[in-house]
Amino acid sequence: MAQTAATPLTGPHVSRIHNYACHCLGLKSYFQQPGDGRAHPHISASDLVCVVVIGRILRVTSFLRLEWLVHSQARAGLGLKAPFGDDVLAYCTERMDPETTRLALAAALHQAKRNKAFENSRFIGLAVDGTGAGRTYKEPCPLCDPIKDAKGEVHGSLHHFVLISVVGVGLTLPIDVEPYGPGDSEYAAAQRLLRRVIDHLGPRFADYLVADGEYATAPFLHTAGELGLPVVARLKENLPLLAAAVRARFDGQPPQAEFREGDDRVEIWDYDHFDSWETLNWPEVRVLRYRQYKRDGTVVEAEWLTDFAIAKLGSLSFYRMAKSRWEIENQGFNDGKNRYGMEHICHHEPNSILIVWLLILLALVIERLYRLRYLHRGEHGIRSAMNLLDSLWLSLGTRNRPDTS
Ligand SMILES: [Zn+2]
Repeated sequence: MAQTAATPLTGPHVSRIHNYACHCLGLKSYFQQPGDGRAHPHISASDLVCVVVIGRILRVTSFLRLEWLVHSQARAGLGLKAPFGDDVLAYCTERMDPETTRLALAAALHQAKRNKAFENSRFIGLAVDGTGAGRTYKEPCPLCDPIKDAKGEVHGSLHHFVLISVVGVGLTLPIDVEPYGPGDSEYAAAQRLLRRVIDHLGPRFADYLVADGEYATAPFLHTAGELGLPVVARLKENLPLLAAAVRARFDGQPPQAEFREGDDRVEIWDYDHFDSWETLNWPEVRVLRYRQYKRDGTVVEAEWLTDFAIAKLGSLSFYRMAKSRWEIENQGFNDGKNRYGMEHICHHEPNSILIVWLLILLALVIERLYRLRYLHRGEHGIRSAMNLLDSLWLSLGTRNRPDTS
């Protein structure tokens, strides 16, 4: 109890996180010039962007709630001289250039790599997946995708985007999002996103790309290949010939290898000479099947394909890469939506929606690197996300923390 009680006194303040982001992640120039497109701003974009990012770390997930915060006694702790209204945030985010924030995210990840944030991981992964958020019944914006029932009746609309994130390194760090509206597709958006991210991060930043079965199509795999990224993708029935060949080879055969991973026992089948399908330019396809026996008695079985050569990637590493895909679901979409407000539309305008999504990613990157890589090194007494959150609220001098459950 004594340590818990002492934590807020020795705990980090908001300004320390800001200093960490500026000096350890190289974001100082970004926070000074975050891509403001307004002609005559009264409140600097620097202040607005800092407050949105710190606000997300504090899990303040609406512009109205931020307006409340900057009018409260917490304003000094946020480093702000004057308060502002939610309309200023709406006006500014409508006019910001998303490329500036995207480049800042890539630069922060580069800096994290240089700071050896991933040094205990042999392979750095990228995971890609799509989702929908911000359901609304209001007048549609250009990004609004109508939600139709079986009879074709519309019940509001949803905003779709593809997310790409660093995975497989012990902490999940989202990098970029690409929205797609009606007439566009997840699949096309994912290819645009992948090209842009590799352009920003460079071809040697990551070692593999992991994705679910719907991405296991020749054009997507070819795009990844052009960008120099081996792919690990779930094998499903959308590739019936390959799935049948895998069953013919593996069914009824004893596993080739078996290992323990945590509490689980895992059996492995792994073969690298399956025929490529006709549209795919790979000479052969390697497929891994795993059967995972969990402690509670459940058994999970799945198959994954890759163009990684067996000589470069053992079965256990292949299995771990496949499992790293879950990070984008759990630490990407679930955390992003349930804790950091990715589900909520602050201002219903396409550029503002995109900017807020990108600023949420930036908040996640800063919070995770600060907590798990920076504070971790010292005796700060901070361990969990909730512990850091409580410390930050107490350091702001307000106990009126929003409900984050
Ligand atoms: Zn909309």
